[in-house]
Amino acid sequence: MTAFDIPATNAALATGPVVQDVLTLPRKLPAGEKANLIGLTRAQLRAALIEAGTPERQAKMREGQIWQWLYHWGVRDFAQMTNLAKDYRALLAEKFQIALPEIVTRQVSEDGTRKYLLRIAGGHEVETVYIPEEGRGTLCVSSQVGCTLTCTFCHTGTQKLVRNLTAGEIVGQLMVARDDLGEWPQPRAPKDETRLVSNLVLMGMGEPLYNFENVRDAMHVVMDGEGLSLSRRRITLSTSGVVPEIARTAEEIGCLLAVSFHATTNEVRDRLVPINKKWNIDALLAALRDYPRLSNSERITFEYVMLDGVNDSDEDARRLVKLIGGIPAKINLIPFNEWPGAPYKRSSWDRIERFADIIYKAGYASPIRTPRGEDIMAACGQLKSATERGRKSRAEVAAEAGL
Ligand code: SAH
Ligand code: SF4
Repeated sequence: MTAFDIPATNAALATGPVVQDVLTLPRKLPAGEKANLIGLTRAQLRAALIEAGTPERQAKMREGQIWQWLYHWGVRDFAQMTNLAKDYRALLAEKFQIALPEIVTRQVSEDGTRKYLLRIAGGHEVETVYIPEEGRGTLCVSSQVGCTLTCTFCHTGTQKLVRNLTAGEIVGQLMVARDDLGEWPQPRAPKDETRLVSNLVLMGMGEPLYNFENVRDAMHVVMDGEGLSLSRRRITLSTSGVVPEIARTAEEIGCLLAVSFHATTNEVRDRLVPINKKWNIDALLAALRDYPRLSNSERITFEYVMLDGVNDSDEDARRLVKLIGGIPAKINLIPFNEWPGAPYKRSSWDRIERFADIIYKAGYASPIRTPRGEDIMAACGQLKSATERGRKSRAEVAAEAGL
């Protein structure tokens, strides 16, 4: 729910062309629970400080100081906020907490990929994956516990939605990963420009555009130049195609967009990505055509999972190129990552390469995504918290896939 519109005031928001800082009212707290500062936007943080008794004329300065402690230095204890008066630190400790998701397990793959199982309020669990690469590192974060959508090739899709993550739980995934990687700056150490987490992708569990406000607020915190400071061009949001929220993503977040396209006819897409029954290929493409202009960004990434005998023919490749004509695009081919009971098989490497070749010859970059962390089930679409109950049977998945 949006309560007030507040003009953008900080450095990071200014890096996006059309980003607005919007004050969303935080959820009502159960009696006795202190409000968590993590995940509040600047506007929300300031409002919370005023409500806790900070004089209004000091609030902007306090907001800036606390922001830097939290997001630049990674400090978790009010007592360490040494540029604040002692009694003010005590007031903060009395009213607020600095809470992050808790690491339940951490698995490290042979290729260096790290998968974290995190526990959040209510005892729910989500997964976050860190993928180190040459000269960069990408963190894949979740936006929901489970997913309401039921894409038939996706492991998360077999898990019922438990709840949306709060903005704090989304930002918290990045902070926990930085803790684990030892990536907070050290006072007086020379500035280190190499970043272990240099990119963030909203490609973990859940459909980010079905949790729009929390994802937006979390990304405002992450993009802020006086804190975590990841630029909007280093953030990619992946959607299965929630058409009405695509223009809002451009206007209110301004990050890069990836879309789970996966099929070239409505008949097949209905089966693979059932949200297509609501917003079909034409409706999706119309929204995508406007995205680069609205977000002032370059290319859209079309994700295309390669499923043996389902969507991987030469004809599909040619149809795909035709469909996306005129949209600045890159096509990311994802070899299907198998999971126990999955009703599909990965296309052969020859097939994937032939498909990539057709796309490449039509003038599009067509990288084949190397599956990472497969040995720890950390690859795209394999995430699903093991503790979740009510999982669908293989037969149910197959029935929904129309197999
Ligand atoms: N809900 C969002 C983001 C999470 S999924 C979305 O659907 O876009 C991130 C990407 O992984 C999507 O492109 C998704 O289609 C893909 N994916 C899901 N399951 C997969 C699997 N088993 N193998 C390969 N890619 C998969
Ligand atoms: Fe949800 Fe994305 Fe998986 Fe579809 S592919 S079920 S939208 S997480």
